[in-house]
This record gives sequence, C-alpha cells and structure tokens, in this order.
Amino acid sequence: MNYDKLSAAFLLLLAACTGTAKTPKPVADEPIRFADYFYDKTMRMDFYHCGNATEEAYFFDELREEPYFAGSYVSLRDSFNYGNQRFVLLDKETGREIYSYHYCTLWGEWQCTPEARTTSLGMPESVVFPYPRRDAVAQIWSRGNPHDPAVRKLHATQPWTLKFEHEIKADNYFVRGFSPLYETQDIHVVGDPHTSLDIVLVPEGYTADERDVFVRDCQTFATEFFRFEPWRTNEQRVNMRLVWAPSAESGVSIPAAGQWRSTAVKANYYTFDSERYQMTYDYQAVRDIAGHAPYDYIYVLTNSDKYGGGGIYNFYGVGAGHDRGGTSGRVHVHEFGHQMLGLGDEYVEIGNTTSDQYDPAVEPWEANLTTKVDISRKPWADGTAPADSVHGASLPEGGGYLEHGIWRPYEHCLMNTLAYPFCPVCLQAIIEYLDYITAPSAQLKI
Ligand SMILES: [Zn+2]
Repeated sequence: MNYDKLSAAFLLLLAACTGTAKTPKPVADEPIRFADYFYDKTMRMDFYHCGNATEEAYFFDELREEPYFAGSYVSLRDSFNYGNQRFVLLDKETGREIYSYHYCTLWGEWQCTPEARTTSLGMPESVVFPYPRRDAVAQIWSRGNPHDPAVRKLHATQPWTLKFEHEIKADNYFVRGFSPLYETQDIHVVGDPHTSLDIVLVPEGYTADERDVFVRDCQTFATEFFRFEPWRTNEQRVNMRLVWAPSAESGVSIPAAGQWRSTAVKANYYTFDSERYQMTYDYQAVRDIAGHAPYDYIYVLTNSDKYGGGGIYNFYGVGAGHDRGGTSGRVHVHEFGHQMLGLGDEYVEIGNTTSDQYDPAVEPWEANLTTKVDISRKPWADGTAPADSVHGASLPEGGGYLEHGIWRPYEHCLMNTLAYPFCPVCLQAIIEYLDYITAPSAQLKI
C-alpha cells in the first residue's frame, strides 16, 4: 500500500468516526453511462479566444455536428489536470459533470509573447465532445497567464477560473450539419475507434496532383512513429487515417523568406518569429478537415522538408512531411509527446535565465518537469527515479528552456534531444494516458 492509499484509508476512517461517511456519495462520483447522455457522434463548439497579456475572453461562434466520436465510452471525465484550459460539459438538469478534458492553445502561448503586451488578438478555436442527448452547459476554465504575478499567487489555492459558459439545447436545429467534402484513406487501422488512439493526418500544401506525395508522407509518418516505444509495443492500439484535402498551391508559407502559399489550413513557419515553429492560427480550418475521420488527435503534415513543427496538448500537431536526414520521424514523435499529454520540453536554451512559459516559483503541470515547489505531484522527483545521469542520484537540473530552477527526471530523453528514446518517466506518463483514452467499456451496453 502506498502512502496515498494509506492516507485515503485514514481519511475514510476519520469520516466514519465523525459521521460524514453516512453522507450520500456525491452524484458526480457515480460512473457516467455514455448512452444516457450522449449520441455516438461529436458536437463541436466554435468560438474566438481573445485578449492580451492580462485579459482573456471567449466569444461564441457556432455549434456543429461531426459524424464520429472516437473517444472512450467510459473515460469521460479527465482528472489528469494537465494543461492550461479545462473544458467541462454539465448536464443542465442535474448540474452533473458528464464530460471534461484539458488542453492548451496557441493563443495561450501567444499570451506570453511580447506582442501580447501591446496588442489584443483573437484566434478561432473550438472544443469537441460527444453529442449531448439532453440540455447541457459547456464551460471553459482557464489557469490564466502564468506570468501574471496575481495569477501565480492564485495557482496555489484556486488554479481554475471560469471564463466562458454556453447553454446547449438538445433540440437546437441550428447546430450546423456535416457536409462531407473530402475522401479519407486508412493508413494503419487495427481497432475500434472507441478503444484505440486515433490519429488523423491532415495535408497542408499538397496540390490536387500531389496526393501520392501526401500518402507517401503519411506512410513514412506511420513507419517512423512505430519505430519508437511505447508505440512499437502498442501498435495494435493505434489507428491512423488521412483526409485528402488538397491545397490551391504547393508548398508552405515561410514569412521571413517572403514565401506565401494559399494552403488548406494556412500554416506557416516563424510562428511568434521562431523560424522552426510551424503552426496555424486557424484551428477551425484544421477541424473542418479532421472531422471527416474518427480522431482523438490531429497531426498536420506539411509539404516541406524544412526542419520544424509544433505540438500543443490536446490541440493539434504539425510537422514537415518529408524526411530530411532521417529526423522527421523523431520530430513527429517528439511533437506528439507535447500533443498527446502535454509533455514539456526537457531541453535548456543556454544562457536562458527566464522563460516565457515556466516560472521557478510555480510547479509546472507537465508530467516530466519539476520546480520542486510541489514535489508530491511528481512521484519521480523524490529521488527514487533510477538516475542514468552523471549527477548520481540527484535530478539533472535544467529543462523547460531554463538552465536553473527546473529539473527533469533523466539526463536523456526524446523530449530533450532527438538522439534518444523517451525516458522512463515520459514512457510511463504516455502509457497511463493511453490507457485512459482507450479504456474499453466491457460492462456498458451502448
Ligand atoms: Zn522524458
């Protein structure tokens, strides 16, 4: 029995002694029966995520129907507590939380840039959830900007602030129906979407006569992906499909080179003026294409061999489609680590004493980084993680772009340098998350 279970048992005993054990179990603790609340398809809520360095606001756009729901029927409420945003769906009648997940956004990263101190900006975003059968309330909670001292102080006691709420009527006929526009193709499909991790591959910058190039890049993605653990061992739990959405022009946009292309999702290099950071502000355009296939994760392959990409937790990932020098596969798997469960970058930017994303005074929520502020949230940081480092039993210092004040679990990891596989801490975090999103519903009749 570990310490956590021991304390839980003690609290239960205490509760029994004080009589509180007789209090009915909160409804929220009962399992949610998927079929009681949801249809087996997806509802998407589009909105604009707006603000600046100190303000964050949401403006509703519209509701849409998507044909597939690829999530687990039983893992409906996320308690990992990763990410800077928390989406919650409440049953209107009972107030019960019937669905939730956490995520991050490109807007949230932008909020930490110097531009956000002088400009207010909105980005089109969306959340997706199983299609409700009954009236529901959608909520978006935020941790706020971690570089706002007031927010930082708040982190210790009340990490989430409700930023947006929208009521969803089950019989609302203004939910935009789905019109299929694109073909899909299986790349590696082995299991039921509800018990598999489903990746949809979205093309960017491939013209109508470059479909073969895109298919080949998708096959390379799959081959490279399964070369790495834990994916090699879990190949039978992962599906990959592509959606064929051609672009008007071939190639990718590279602003600093004066190269602009009219492409499917408007991605470009030099996001936030970082050359290798290839992303798009238009998440809704990405979703429009992705929704043609069942998916848990969206990965955009771009018609380029220029080094670069990006991945944001439960948002989307991007990578250059063509392999150059054998690194593309490693980049994709690294970015997917960000995208799937928000693993942090374990590398250091030499000379960096401050980071736009991490603060040594705040325990990061990322599973693989610690500031030692709240070490109980990182079981590996108590000195029991086998050290493969030159530092002996102590943790290697440096990570999250900072040289000091932040520690990583192992000297080497794919989240640090592309030359290595995932470290054991990252591997375990991935497996735990994979188990959650693929949990089967043996007892539930859907
Ligand atoms: Zn790691």
